[in-house]
Amino acid sequence: MIKAIAEKTLRQAGLRKTTDRLHLLELIDPARAWTADQLFTELKKVNLSTVYRNLTVLTEKGILRSIIGHGGKTLYELAERSHHAHTVCHDCGQVGCIPCPLKDSSNHLLEFYETCESCLARHR
Ligand SMILES: [Zn+2]
Ligand SMILES: [Zn+2]
Ligand SMILES: [Zn+2]
Repeated sequence: MIKAIAEKTLRQAGLRKTTDRLHLLELIDPARAWTADQLFTELKKVNLSTVYRNLTVLTEKGILRSIIGHGGKTLYELAERSHHAHTVCHDCGQVGCIPCPLKDSSNHLLEFYETCESCLARHR
C-alpha cells in the first residue's frame, strides 16, 4: 500500500507510526502474500524479530491475516481480501493472489505452481 494509506491504517488501528511498520505495510499490496522471511529479505536493515513482532501486532489488529500456505509456511496478506486463490513461484517462492476459479468458496485452499513474471524475465 502507498505510504499515506499505511499511515492512515496505523492511525485508525491506534498503532504508533514507526518507520519499520510503515515500510512493512508499504510492501504489502493486494496482489501478493508474504512469508516473514521474504519481508525480512526485502526490508533489509530490520531484524527478523522486529518483522515477526510487527506482523503479530498488525494481524491482531485485523490489518493483516495469516494463513498457512504451501509446505506449511505462514503467509501474511491484507485481511480485507475476500476468498481467493494463490500462485506460488517454484523458482523464488513468491506468492501471488488471484481470483479463485471455483464457485464454492468453502473448505479449500487453491495453489497454482508457476514461474512468476520476474523469474520469467530473468531467464529470458
Ligand atoms: Zn519467481
Ligand atoms: Zn492471497
Ligand atoms: Zn476458492
